[in-house]
Amino acid sequence: MAVLKFQNARETVIHKLRQFRSLAPPQLVPLNESSGRVLAESVVADRDFPPFPRSIRDGFAVRHTDLVKPPTPLRIKGLVKAGDAFNGTVAAGECVEIMTGAPVPDGADAVVMVEHTRPKGDWVEVERRLEAGENIVGRGSEARRGDNLLDRGIRIGYAEVAMMAAVGKDTVAVFRKPRVAILPTGDEVVEIGAEPGPYQIRNSNGFSLQSQVAACHGIPVPLGIAPDREDRLREMIAEGLRSDLLVLSGGVSVGKYDLVEKALTSLHAEIFFSGVFMHPGRPLVFGRAGGTFFFGLPGNPLSTMVTFESFVRPCLALLSGEDAAPVPFLRARLGRDLRRKPGLASFLPARLSGSNDDPTVTPVEWRGSGDIACLTRANCYLVVPEGVTEIRAGEWVGVLLRD
Ligand code: AMP
Ligand code: MG
Repeated sequence: MAVLKFQNARETVIHKLRQFRSLAPPQLVPLNESSGRVLAESVVADRDFPPFPRSIRDGFAVRHTDLVKPPTPLRIKGLVKAGDAFNGTVAAGECVEIMTGAPVPDGADAVVMVEHTRPKGDWVEVERRLEAGENIVGRGSEARRGDNLLDRGIRIGYAEVAMMAAVGKDTVAVFRKPRVAILPTGDEVVEIGAEPGPYQIRNSNGFSLQSQVAACHGIPVPLGIAPDREDRLREMIAEGLRSDLLVLSGGVSVGKYDLVEKALTSLHAEIFFSGVFMHPGRPLVFGRAGGTFFFGLPGNPLSTMVTFESFVRPCLALLSGEDAAPVPFLRARLGRDLRRKPGLASFLPARLSGSNDDPTVTPVEWRGSGDIACLTRANCYLVVPEGVTEIRAGEWVGVLLRD
């Protein structure tokens, strides 16, 4: 079956989602509950922004042609504060005292900051020249009435909330959150409330997956643990396919009891790929059955987490109605020399430290892809592309943030 390179696999996920996703009708939510959701309508300017020429300084509204030979005395004609308007026109040799956020009076074409003036009773002396338009934001210069401000399909954050508040939108059409069925598999896996036998392990994947789904603004639907028995596995998968996405963990390698792919095939699943050249993570199934996408992630906890971040996260973005799948990669300088085996893209648990202008990333010690403890000491993954076998300390490398 198809094993893809990392970048091809990512593109396949995005391409298949664009081709086959079907989005439920949007719902309306109050503006203050819209943060983190995906906008299902476009938002247009209901008036010009700003709606009047706005002063961005406290000072004096002037005619810049008056100020060619500073210092210049100007007669103060009046005062205008934010929320008011000056009733009248600024003529040659005159000015109006003005506050930040106030409309610039007719006749004036610049605002001189109060710091550059000297008061003299009804007069003020201006100490410098000004360009036309200085310290004024022109009417409609940020947006014109009717202009598109926010596109359908963007994720709403605090800036978008502010923009919608500014146009007076108190309810917002957003896409529904996708329901994500979570199905860990494995005869050795027990519920966390149970006492594990000597060769059993607790179901940590079920919980990391719920946490990751929630972080992507999806609704986790935990289905319990599936045994390594094909008939029961098939039943539970069928149940999972009733959600908007099904994410399994374990049972996708080539072992005798790795039955996930077999169970999916018996449910007439179409499988787009069944492996990715990456570490951790290589066995990884992505496909679609009965109109629902699914991922069979490898069971090793770090593999489950890394493949989720790399593939399920962009899938969930598109299933949530987003137009683009975010790529949360940064770059930092490597903290120490590094060697890798060729052929696999690697995601090494690492710590990002240093300052804004000198970020450094250093891999943490780890004992393979079952080592959850190492990941709690890391705050990111250092990304080594396939084909790169040696990187020296100080070189720039890719970083995938953990949260
Ligand atoms: P598998 O992919 O099924 O071969 O599992 C690979 C490794 O991951 C095995 O050591 C499993 O015990 C472990 N594993 C599988 N499922 C889970 C789970 N839900 N939580 C924690 N570890 C798991
Ligand atoms: Mg297993």
